Amino acid sequence: ANQYMKPFNDISSVLSEIQASLACAERMFMLLDQKDEVETGQAVFDSEQLKGDIGFDQVDFAYVKTESLIENLSFNAEAGQTVAIVGPTGAGKSTLINLLMRFYDVDQGKIELDGTNIEVYTRASIRQQFGMVLQETWLKVGTVADNIAYANPNLSRVDIIRAAKAAKADRFIDMLPQGYDTYLDKAGAELSTGQQQLLSIARVFAAKPKMLILDEATSSIDTLTEVLIQKAFDQLMVNRTSFIIAHRLSTIQNADHILVLDKGHIIEHGNHKTLMQAKGFYYQLQMAHQSVGQFD
Ligand code: ADP
Repeated sequence: ANQYMKPFNDISSVLSEIQASLACAERMFMLLDQKDEVETGQAVFDSEQLKGDIGFDQVDFAYVKTESLIENLSFNAEAGQTVAIVGPTGAGKSTLINLLMRFYDVDQGKIELDGTNIEVYTRASIRQQFGMVLQETWLKVGTVADNIAYANPNLSRVDIIRAAKAAKADRFIDMLPQGYDTYLDKAGAELSTGQQQLLSIARVFAAKPKMLILDEATSSIDTLTEVLIQKAFDQLMVNRTSFIIAHRLSTIQNADHILVLDKGHIIEHGNHKTLMQAKGFYYQLQMAHQSVGQFD
């Protein structure tokens, strides 16, 4: 029966539920903390001790066991490094995130966090170590301050404002009718997409996770806000192991690891220098897209 429940548990189906109804935003949190998944791991993370080294060791994974997908993927991201995941829609970017956050478990090989196989940890405990900023944000009904303090409802006003400033969200919050006490009775739908993102970034600053999953915006954000978001992302990534679904050339060029995916397979990985020297798929894409500053 477990096999049939799985499709409801992965991150893309969680997100499409959110898109279906904004009133469902609260469900994101529920789904990220599901009780109906079979719990294999027992251990719970000590967040204080976590460094954030992440290793994929000869990982194989396929949703449908007869159709190969990720095969023999190995790489090591040291604490604080950035992993850019690039490739068109359907390439397998979300699949890597699904594995990392244990929405699915690998078929072969292992994923290690600080040298320990993540399968020994509870799913909730792993997910709590990641801060996420995705294109579809999930804010909740409540004040702006409540939203920033989500991970820690006791956070002081000083720390809430500090997080908003770090996220470059303070400017727009200050202009709201009641500032940080403005009540979002539409769970953020009353804000622009860019403002929702800035608020989500503030939430991650407030939660201080060691690891990040970021999804770079592709559209529907005005240029000025996008610049703010880029700056906030850059600041957020300092000293945090970051997995970024990347579209901007500069993000990709600066990443410590670049995973190039196509049709569900990792077709190349390395860094900008090694991939350019290899003169393969990545090199071709660079040549084709350099003029537009956008990778895919
Ligand atoms: P991306 O995030 O790059 O758009 P995905 O990781 O979502 O790509 O998808 C990679 C491949 O796996 C696609 O062929 C997609 O159709 C397939 N896929 C994604 N999720 C599932 C699922 N839950 N069950 C079966 N196949 C899936």
